[in-house]
Amino acid sequence: MDFGLTDEQELLLDSLRELLERECPESYIAELDRTHQAPTSFRLALHEAGFASLGFPEEYGGTPCDAVTLMMLTERVSQQGLNNGYGIELLQAKDILEFGSQEQKADILGLLAAGAVPFALGFTEPGAGSDNSAMTTTAVHRDGTVTFNGTKTLITNALDAKYLLVMAKSSDGDDERTAISMYLVPMDAPGVSTNKLEKIVWNTNDSCEIFMDDVTLPESCLVGRQGNGFRQLMRNLDLERLVIAATCLGLAQCAFDDAATYASQRVQFGKPIGSFQLIQLKLTDMAIKLENIRNFVYKTSWMVDQGIPLRSQGALCKRYAAMAAFEVADDAMQIFGGIGVNAGTRVSRLWRDLRGHRFGGGTDEIMVHIAGRQIIREHR
Ligand SMILES: Cc1cc2nc3c(=O)[nH]c(=O)nc-3n(C[C@H](O)[C@H](O)[C@H](O)COP(=O)(O)OP(=O)(O)OC[C@H]3O[C@@H](n4cnc5c(N)ncnc54)[C@H](O)[C@@H]3O)c2cc1C
Repeated sequence: MDFGLTDEQELLLDSLRELLERECPESYIAELDRTHQAPTSFRLALHEAGFASLGFPEEYGGTPCDAVTLMMLTERVSQQGLNNGYGIELLQAKDILEFGSQEQKADILGLLAAGAVPFALGFTEPGAGSDNSAMTTTAVHRDGTVTFNGTKTLITNALDAKYLLVMAKSSDGDDERTAISMYLVPMDAPGVSTNKLEKIVWNTNDSCEIFMDDVTLPESCLVGRQGNGFRQLMRNLDLERLVIAATCLGLAQCAFDDAATYASQRVQFGKPIGSFQLIQLKLTDMAIKLENIRNFVYKTSWMVDQGIPLRSQGALCKRYAAMAAFEVADDAMQIFGGIGVNAGTRVSRLWRDLRGHRFGGGTDEIMVHIAGRQIIREHR
């Protein structure tokens, strides 16, 4: 087994490091976090440098790239301390490339190529969180049009987005899940309104409620097949979980490096706190968790590259990465002592942002729900 980087990976990571130093220093991220702004200029810089189209097919202006390399890049951007800074474009392109019409592909990939935010993903509702099948948003097809009514909530990055990729019930259907379809609804369509949510995590990603009140659009807003929306949503969810796991890995590595540096500098009882065994124990266990998350992320990415079905692997990887990375950040905060909880410290931001990853993309518990059932099925 070869754990070394290829020449291409080394080159890419070197050039990403230079870009991060120039366009995404800690002062920039801290200011965005303080003022609740998106990293727009950094996103554009990633586009200009060609990073944002890695993994897209060449016919759409992209450069093919394997999942292991893409996850290394995702990890590296988060290691800078920036949450959700890389990988989202890839997920958006995949959704549309697989199921979108020619017009939708041209539109969404054109927006991606211009460095814009093409869409936010909307499935959660006030009464339907983990249980998507309980959603009540309706999409009524009539005379070549679709009319939407319903409320989505906790939607990330919708305020800057051109569209909402929305899941809605297009028929009553016997099976709730075959009743769900996927649509692209313009955020500025008549009848769409938003309410910004103030949250304590992910300050660089806005969150909002989205209300759709008799929003009527041509039927061409349907993405993929009617009644196939739930399956389409599930299709790329494993990749989304992998991107989340790689993001958690980078953020946790950043917290670990900060804590280890601080431990070697902070003097109490006449010695650096890093000389106390209780602090060394924390750092040791943090290092073990980081190693485990990294192996989990890289192996799962390798499985994607080999075309090996992930089955429970995506859920296992997301659950472990989100939980272990948060534990690493929590221990890092403990090592910082009282200053760790001061607003504006990097460790407090990493701790907050990592906490959010235990919900987004499915909760810790839902990962058990998915993986546990699969494990039992495989051992029947
Ligand atoms: C930062 C952040 C970003 C998000 N971004 C988006 C987005 O862009 N688009 C979007 O559509 N949604 C988004 N969400 C919503 C997210 O997907 C939901 O929060 C998540 O699916 C859980 O739903 P819920 O919050 O309603 O909790 P609930 O489903 O009500 O769950 C409450 C608690 O019960 C547990 N629980 C529920 N069912 C079970 C079960 N069967 N077994 C055991 N325990 C269970 C849950 O794990 C949780 O601990 C985001 C959430 C967060 C926090």
